[in-house]
Amino acid sequence: MSANKKNRLEILNFYAAELDRLLIGRGWVPAGPCPFSACENLNSFSLDLGTGAFACLSCGVSGDDAVDFKAALSGVSRATAIENLAHVWGLQPDDFFRRNHEPD
Ligand SMILES: [Zn+2]
Repeated sequence: MSANKKNRLEILNFYAAELDRLLIGRGWVPAGPCPFSACENLNSFSLDLGTGAFACLSCGVSGDDAVDFKAALSGVSRATAIENLAHVWGLQPDDFFRRNHEPD
């Protein structure tokens, strides 16, 4: 793990906390009940643990990263979601504007 990692939201940790479920896998993985209240379909929600992207085939909610997830779940803007995530995860808001793709 590089030093840079400490300045980024760990996608696996984030979703494990948000979904109360341990997720294992690469790429898109099924992630249990859809967490969006209007849906809660048991088998339609999936995540890409590499990028944090998410999608539900039942209600159609989707997004590109953990910020989109938090914004959609909380009904707030991306800017507000970033502030909330930074606070909860001990990061700086600027950290969210770096891409998750880092050179090895
Ligand atoms: Zn759904």
